[in-house]
Amino acid sequence: MQLKRHIDSTLGSGNLREAVRLPIGEDLNEWLAVNTVDFFNQASVLYSTLMEFCTPATCPTMSAGQKYEYRWADGVKIKRPIEVSAPKYVEYLMDWIEAQLDDESIFPQKIGTPFPPNFRDLVKTIFKRLFRVYAHIYHSHFQMIMKLKEEAHLNTCFKHFTMFTLEFRLIDKAELAPLGDLIESIMLGWNGGALINKEPVKRNLRSDSRCKTEAKCQESFPS
Ligand SMILES: [Zn+2]
Repeated sequence: MQLKRHIDSTLGSGNLREAVRLPIGEDLNEWLAVNTVDFFNQASVLYSTLMEFCTPATCPTMSAGQKYEYRWADGVKIKRPIEVSAPKYVEYLMDWIEAQLDDESIFPQKIGTPFPPNFRDLVKTIFKRLFRVYAHIYHSHFQMIMKLKEEAHLNTCFKHFTMFTLEFRLIDKAELAPLGDLIESIMLGWNGGALINKEPVKRNLRSDSRCKTEAKCQESFPS
């Protein structure tokens, strides 16, 4: 898949600013689609390493610090928001995203098949929900992430996710508040041109973008 190769090669160059930009001549929806699949895969791989530590006992609610709590509703099966534990929330969330990605009327597999008119809104909802997984990980499990020595990987994935989100205005500002400071530091790096990594970002992605893939990136925030 051509777009995928483009993402990999630009990420390989280590410049995330360049990696998120719509390649010249490419279709915006196509670009949103291929990246959405990637970001979903990254977040689910990251969360899966924490699953044994994120339990109904440790995380009875889906929170992002003390000020933010999320309730689940998908608008179809669960219309009124329900309070569930963080692992249950993430399970609902990931299952919901997976169902969207698998729906050919939303994410057409064949090149040239039109995307639905509300495609961008749907992508925005997916991003808003993926952000909550990051917010929960940073607020509730960062100690464990450090123990597992995954912080550089987490930071790189989140930085890439944030830069893409900002480039295409995919999440409302109020929704980003739980990680506002972190995002600000990413923005500073962006504007200050400090985002050129010293080490090339290594990624190992299978060609089938709809499969769960192990995405490895090695890099940390500029402090
Ligand atoms: Zn948790």
